[in-house]
Amino acid sequence: MSADQPNGAANAGLPVWLDWVLYNTQSGLVLLDADMRIVFANKWFLLRAGLSAEHVNGGALLDVFPVLKGSHFERALVKAMRSGFPALMSQTMHPSPFPLYAPVGPRANDNLLRQSIHIVPMGPADVAMAGQRYTLVQIADVSPTVARERLLKAHADHMSDLVHIDALTGLGNRRFFDESMAAEMRAASRSGGMLGLVLMDIDRFKQFNDLYGHPAGDRCLQGVANVLKAVCRRPRDLVARYGGEELAVILPDTDMAGAVQVAKDILQKLRDLHIPHADNLEQTMVTLSAGVFAGRLNADESVETLIQKADQALYAAKNDGRNRVFCFDVGHSSALAV
Ligand code: GH3
Ligand code: MG
Ligand code: MG
Repeated sequence: MSADQPNGAANAGLPVWLDWVLYNTQSGLVLLDADMRIVFANKWFLLRAGLSAEHVNGGALLDVFPVLKGSHFERALVKAMRSGFPALMSQTMHPSPFPLYAPVGPRANDNLLRQSIHIVPMGPADVAMAGQRYTLVQIADVSPTVARERLLKAHADHMSDLVHIDALTGLGNRRFFDESMAAEMRAASRSGGMLGLVLMDIDRFKQFNDLYGHPAGDRCLQGVANVLKAVCRRPRDLVARYGGEELAVILPDTDMAGAVQVAKDILQKLRDLHIPHADNLEQTMVTLSAGVFAGRLNADESVETLIQKADQALYAAKNDGRNRVFCFDVGHSSALAV
């Protein structure tokens, strides 16, 4: 059959032009009588249901499609038929009420058409003329739209990763850090909860590059990043490359003891790797220094003031000899060794 050629046998008795219109309508049409029996189903619908007009016409809807028994669609249909008000069932809540499949391809579950369904009961004037309330069920195949939306979402997710992930280390980048800090600070201010921030900087990394070369420096950065990923495994921990060889961990709902422990674990795990660094003073391996801030936020706290506090502690750790953790002491507005 070609698309513009009506199938006279299916809708015998109809004028040819009306048969043609119904045949070429690119959505499913099912007409039900007041007893929920199928009076008519168009070709589009029959083809996708895999049924013939003879099989369907005159049959009770729920016998022809037992899968609809007790479904949300049945409830919506009964309600619309009783009230006379139309109903729309969107594919987001109820993706595929009817067992309809693409005309080509296997009739398997993952091939079910995504359906957007209009239930349109006759209004009172037409009911008076027809002698009973007929209800039209219109089914649109929204599978292509859903597939396109999925593709766009995957594309958007991928783009968002590119925008937020540092290519060298796979950690969050500076943009990710800034956005995460702002979001977590808002959340902590709202809930009155704690927020922890650990800033870290590789010790004498310039000397490492000078000694072993920049590519080796890059590999070293990747190794340090892997340590951070291994230690910060809670789903809400946010790990980022804050600058060149500066790294940051944002720790929601974490007090000072918890944040210091995370920092110490990172420093220890890195030392355990024994990445050689002959020019790191008395250490002969790559080490990190860390500055920690954690606590409840002041009313006037900003991302900048919070970073300043952790940075002040980091600076103190560097000055004190490196390869150690310092924390910002809220009481004295100064950094303390831990
Ligand atoms: P300190 O212990 O005081 O931190 O000394 P440092 O040498 O680490 O400090 P400084 O900030 O002076 O040097 C940072 C070095 O990190 C300089 C720069 O070449 C290096 N660096 C920054 N980003 C990268 C990178 O992506 N790859 C490599 N290989 N090196 C980097
Ligand atoms: Mg630095
Ligand atoms: Mg450094």
